[in-house]
Amino acid sequence: MTETNEEPEAIHRSVEDEARHCVRCGLCLSVCPGYRQSLNETDSPRARVALMQARKEGLLDPSDDGFVDTFFSCLLCGSCAFVCPSGVAVDRILEITRGDLAGEGLLPSSLAELNDRILAYRNISAEGNEGRAIWADNLPSRPKGLGKEQAEVAYFVGCVGSFYPRSYSVPQSLVQIFDRLNVDYALLGGAEWCCGYPMFLNGNLDGARELIRHNVEAVRSIGAKKVVFTCPSCFHFWNHTYPVALGVQELGIEVQHATEFLADLLERDDVHLKGIPATVTYHDPCDLGRKEGVFEAPRRILRRIPGLKLNEMPENRAGSHCCGGGGNVESFAPEVSKRVSAQRLSQALDTGAEVIVSACQQCERTLAGAARNARARVRVRDITDLVLEALED
Ligand code: SF4
Ligand code: SF4
Repeated sequence: MTETNEEPEAIHRSVEDEARHCVRCGLCLSVCPGYRQSLNETDSPRARVALMQARKEGLLDPSDDGFVDTFFSCLLCGSCAFVCPSGVAVDRILEITRGDLAGEGLLPSSLAELNDRILAYRNISAEGNEGRAIWADNLPSRPKGLGKEQAEVAYFVGCVGSFYPRSYSVPQSLVQIFDRLNVDYALLGGAEWCCGYPMFLNGNLDGARELIRHNVEAVRSIGAKKVVFTCPSCFHFWNHTYPVALGVQELGIEVQHATEFLADLLERDDVHLKGIPATVTYHDPCDLGRKEGVFEAPRRILRRIPGLKLNEMPENRAGSHCCGGGGNVESFAPEVSKRVSAQRLSQALDTGAEVIVSACQQCERTLAGAARNARARVRVRDITDLVLEALED
């Protein structure tokens, strides 16, 4: 991998070029989870495109009331860009405008604090980064990948799975699966830093680039040919932005979400799964599904587990409705996040599912919160937990 000093063109190209293709048809309003909740035009993708244009033409001052809020209360779910008949890359406009606002010192304070935490601690939670594998402490046996210096596969756990006890079960399940099925993997421990996505979304690409360089080197140092992720956001950022940010065509390291890795693993002849009798629905995380096109791997896994009945929500795959946890919105506008997750929960309950399955610890957390708030009789589980249960004797 040879780095260049050129600015990544895909990140810094003109947003005006994108925006002028908007014909104001309004199709994006029908899929925008934020707009659906407020029915307020300024919360719509179309308005965000128009506001960005007005600002570029000098018709609006970004420090005007509400301007900044409009951009930082977007979930960056990508639904708008997906349905736009004119092919406007609305998601790119939104990301770049956030970056411009941050560059002008207009980043909301809660998000500026998040950036500062990541720079100081190398993670989003402001805990000592050497404690990244603390979730492994109460497993029945020490994970074989802990402290391993060379391995075929690196497991990149991500900040949420590493530091938030609510999400510990995700890495705990995956390492137990790996150990049972003899996967040659290593955990990076304190050498894993935040992937950089939250800083990128908060407009600090330079800060993110430092994290990116470090993480790539950490994986290279153990000789891993592949990195596996349980967090779709880390996976998306590595796959989509790491090469661009480093100015390379390819990283030379294969990246895979855990569902892709597990779907192949479970099809081995020597893998036998016990039945789990339950009706489930599957929630496609935005960063995994719509943004990375991973739709079939999690469904292959669910079909592989005897006894599971999958009832799809009408808004599934590329048309999936955000869980409410995207775009750092929980930090900036938690009420928006809550309303959106309540809507997705309601869609899931309409399927009659007893279990909502996802493949993202953030989706699992927001949907479980919505279920608690609604006192709904439904469980929310990560797909790795289900796989481990099906593997147990
Ligand atoms: S769908 Fe596309 S063209 Fe239509 S209003 Fe939205 S951004 Fe503009
Ligand atoms: S990215 Fe999602 S939340 Fe943001 S404007 Fe588009 S559809 Fe709405």
